[in-house]
Amino acid sequence: MLGHFDAGVKPLHLGDRYAYHDTVTAWIKQLPVGPMANFAYLLGDSADKGCVVIDPGWEGERILQVGTDNGYNIEAIWLTHTHFDHIGAVEPLLEKVDVPLLVHELEACTFAHLKDLVRCTRDGDPLQVGTVGVQCLHTPGHTPGGQCFVGEGFVFTGDTLFVDSIGRTDLPGSDPEQMFSSLKRLSHLPPGTVVYSGHNYGREPTTTIGEQVKRNPYMQCRTVGEFLRR
Ligand SMILES: [Zn+2]
Repeated sequence: MLGHFDAGVKPLHLGDRYAYHDTVTAWIKQLPVGPMANFAYLLGDSADKGCVVIDPGWEGERILQVGTDNGYNIEAIWLTHTHFDHIGAVEPLLEKVDVPLLVHELEACTFAHLKDLVRCTRDGDPLQVGTVGVQCLHTPGHTPGGQCFVGEGFVFTGDTLFVDSIGRTDLPGSDPEQMFSSLKRLSHLPPGTVVYSGHNYGREPTTTIGEQVKRNPYMQCRTVGEFLRR
């Protein structure tokens, strides 16, 4: 699967509230939510109309409505990490839909009270949304259990990689050296891979791995020492 990216993925920006693109089967809806410039996402299979919610930080009702308005059924919630601004709408959503909650095993304790719904993920785990294949990429650094979701032509990067920047590495559980390694892993994805990050902090809502390798100062560091001095 990882050999077949850049299959005609073209981001379309529809004003400043939504962006989406269609690959052959993947449907991606980027939703700015809450007061901290977060992005929540819907990732679906446009043929079978199943979808997952990624990082429902806020506005659970609206996320659900966008799914319904587009004819999609929510089948799971996936988390890139468990900071409050990425999970605030998890429980409100779970009151409406009875679906599994995917979280990296190192952060699953955040949801110990929901253990019947939690499915722990690890690096390399394959996930499926209908026929859309996705792989978990463990990217610690911002948090110990940070993970990215890599598909054909797209990657959801949470707070690991932003447009032209990266997530904080000075928080409890952060580790700058791990962040350096995680960014290196992301830099090896095909250059055309569209990046869907956890916050709208950049000059545009999406970017590509190739653009970030060229112009993101943190991705240009060649050694961990250089990275730590930034
Ligand atoms: Zn975070």
